[in-house]
Amino acid sequence: MENTAEVIIVGAGIHGSSLAFHLAERGVPPLVLEKTFLAAGATGRSSGLVRMYYDLEPEPRMAIASLPYFRNWPERVGGECGFTRTGFIQILPRRDELRLRANVEMCQRAGIFSLVVSAADVRRLAPVFRVDDFDHAAYEPESGYADPPAAAKAFMDSARQRGARLVQDCRVTGIRVHGSRVMGVETTRGEFSAPVVVNAAGPWAPEIGRMVGLELPIKTLRHDVALFRRPPALGPVHPVVIDEPYLQYFRPETGRLMLVGLDDVNTLGESPDGPTEYVKPNYIGQAVERICRRVPVMDEGSLHSSYCGYEGNTADVRAILDQAGPDGFYLDCGFSGMGFKIAPAVGKCMSELILDGQARTVDLTPWRWDRFTPQRLAELLASKDAYENIWH
Ligand SMILES: Cc1cc2nc3c(=O)[nH]c(=O)nc-3n(C[C@H](O)[C@H](O)[C@H](O)COP(=O)(O)OP(=O)(O)OC[C@H]3O[C@@H](n4cnc5c(N)ncnc54)[C@H](O)[C@@H]3O)c2cc1C
Repeated sequence: MENTAEVIIVGAGIHGSSLAFHLAERGVPPLVLEKTFLAAGATGRSSGLVRMYYDLEPEPRMAIASLPYFRNWPERVGGECGFTRTGFIQILPRRDELRLRANVEMCQRAGIFSLVVSAADVRRLAPVFRVDDFDHAAYEPESGYADPPAAAKAFMDSARQRGARLVQDCRVTGIRVHGSRVMGVETTRGEFSAPVVVNAAGPWAPEIGRMVGLELPIKTLRHDVALFRRPPALGPVHPVVIDEPYLQYFRPETGRLMLVGLDDVNTLGESPDGPTEYVKPNYIGQAVERICRRVPVMDEGSLHSSYCGYEGNTADVRAILDQAGPDGFYLDCGFSGMGFKIAPAVGKCMSELILDGQARTVDLTPWRWDRFTPQRLAELLASKDAYENIWH
């Protein structure tokens, strides 16, 4: 196996794969090193919501720059990403109505087709939903959900067709640095050389950061998910929903299923190598209670399965997209539970940062690394119209 490359990417999740695709498209096919297999980390467990609605201005820009990929995946990337356009509804408690309007306006300024709709409109969009506990919601007709492992595979397949290489079962154990410059990596399959190394290791990113002396402010967040069988009364499809009053989100899933995640029972600080087959003991009961409150016909549903995933969360719950540490070392990590939907544009921006010295597609300044240094903590990303929980 050839052991040199112009760029080495550590991690073959959606972000390593998207970056590999965009670098290969620019004629710089990278070497991707993955300790287990493609999409084995957060990407393989992701709920795949593709929505534009955020409460902080830079993020809708990244989301809207990603939407054309999802809508035209076979032409833009090749293969399939499973994008299903269902529309997206964000339900908020009455006390958050001003924030709802402010955030919809902010999304509209970013060019997103986003509207404030009434509870009666929501009822028309989804006749089986209960709508008596809110007056208005945000609605995005263009949004929906996709299949994260399929998207990662499609990105990687297209990258490989353009000369990128993926080595699986290959754990990076050290970063080689000479003077102030990155030289390559040490792995369980020997040494590989490159003047550029990108940390796209998801919740394992702190481990890779420590290899060059960087303490990344990333903690592992565990997130449980349940799948329920859909009763026929629910029909085959309905919009994807983030339901803030009940701190849950839900969407249709292939195979007549409903995917439900809860926002307030995630735990911080676990090992990213923990089991993924189990949810916490009381999770299913809580998910059943909350989904039946919003969608009463789910009383006739039944549990199909459940699992959990691990994600890397930063101190301000926003990603780090920057050069940091020795020359040639880049951070593409810390996606804090929201990284799938923005992966296409992030990969493009990171390829521009690496090859041109600056991203043009979306300005990466808000995601810079030095916002976490003690002198600049006041610059941590924070929205004036933030909600308590916005994750997925
Ligand atoms: C349960 C769950 C639901 C989610 N739902 C949504 C959602 O609805 N919408 C949304 O936008 N986002 C969602 N997210 C977040 C999103 O899935 C993540 O932000 C995204 O998948 C992160 O991708 P990644 O490539 O950065 O990391 P990962 O997918 O974790 O990839 C990192 C890879 O690095 C590899 N690696 C680690 N260490 C090494 C090493 N030493 N050497 C080599 N390889 C290494 C790992 O094996 C892994 O494959 C969800 C996350 C979870 C866990």
